[in-house]
Amino acid sequence: MLSERAGKIKPSPTLAMDAKAKAMKASGIDIVNFGVGEPDFDTPENIKEAAIKAIREGFTKYTPVGGIDPLKDAIIEKFKKDNNLDYTRDEIIVSCGAKHSLYNIAQALYGKGDEVIIPSPYWVSYPDQVILNDAIPVFIKTNEKDNFMLKPDVFESHITKKTKAIILNSPSNPTGVTYDKKTLEGIAEIAIKHNLYVISDEIYEKLTYDGFTHISIASLSKDIKQRTLIVNGLSKSYAMTGWRIGYTAGTKDIIKAMTNIQSQSTSNPTSIAQKAAVEALRGPQDFINTMLAEFDKRRKFLVTELNAISGISCLTPTGAFYAFPNTSKLYGRHTDGNKISSSSDLAIYFLEKANVALVHGEAFGNDDYIRLSYATSIDNIKKGLDRIREAVSRLT
Ligand SMILES: *Cc1c(COP(=O)(O)O)cnc(C)c1O
Repeated sequence: MLSERAGKIKPSPTLAMDAKAKAMKASGIDIVNFGVGEPDFDTPENIKEAAIKAIREGFTKYTPVGGIDPLKDAIIEKFKKDNNLDYTRDEIIVSCGAKHSLYNIAQALYGKGDEVIIPSPYWVSYPDQVILNDAIPVFIKTNEKDNFMLKPDVFESHITKKTKAIILNSPSNPTGVTYDKKTLEGIAEIAIKHNLYVISDEIYEKLTYDGFTHISIASLSKDIKQRTLIVNGLSKSYAMTGWRIGYTAGTKDIIKAMTNIQSQSTSNPTSIAQKAAVEALRGPQDFINTMLAEFDKRRKFLVTELNAISGISCLTPTGAFYAFPNTSKLYGRHTDGNKISSSSDLAIYFLEKANVALVHGEAFGNDDYIRLSYATSIDNIKKGLDRIREAVSRLT
């Protein structure tokens, strides 16, 4: 008999959709995959070389649980350089990917009945990680007309005596929004006033467009830094999803608790990957700009073409690598006598009848949308758009 806990959660819907698309592909069907949440670029050579060197030198044993000092120092330098934030080694923990960092935070902070505010649309793992730790996700719907940003007064109106924390994600997966300074200041003020923790997932920090720059909420004041846990990682900026390196910066007490938890679960992140991460953070950074320039081209093309399809409208994302178009006008239309009445119906229709994989917005908490990743070549994007256009025109 499985635990009650195991029954309360579902597999990651983005990974599930990806698995379905990959299975169709494996059976010989030519799938255009907009479902993936990882860069289509290869990990840069200098980073791979650092890992190979680590293997050759025998750096293949346990390391300190929370990460090796050179990596912590490289992370500290990153925070200083990019965010003007000062941290010490005991305020940093390296984990097995940012998802693991977020999970350790959930274990260290949330208790039975605690409420954790999650603006929606949200990244798929936030609610389930809250639930796995006996706490309650409280969703606050954000709207397209506000650029999907949480308004500070709406945030405040959802706070109760049980509210423990809020999870922010800027730049956002799935909406691509990057929060502006004024909104972050408003959110920080309310978090301080109500004594809440802010969990700030900044994994897309380096991927911003149109002159938008990432602002870490922790950099706004000493008071907000004290109650913020910054989560970041190497997966997205350095095309290192498989290496599993993420990290958290926060106050000593919480970092210590997270390190204890990690010491009883995974122990250290892979020694070799840690060496590679040092090289990623300290070595040449031009890879990011090359990747970003390519993403930018695809973003502009994809968003323009999506908006040209009747029944679909799409805000221009300013960060990450996703477009999040509104497809609600297509609901109610029919295909072979079947009604499309949700984002999930539409995603299945596109997958099965047009061989295009993407993720239904419902997975992120808003059924009016779908998510397309543009971490795929411009040729694939063109091909996928042709198929989507054609599939939409077939709906009656
Ligand atoms: C990809 C992603 C993560 C997790 O990244 P890993 O470091 O690979 O675990 C966390 N948050 C968001 C919003 C993501 O898109």
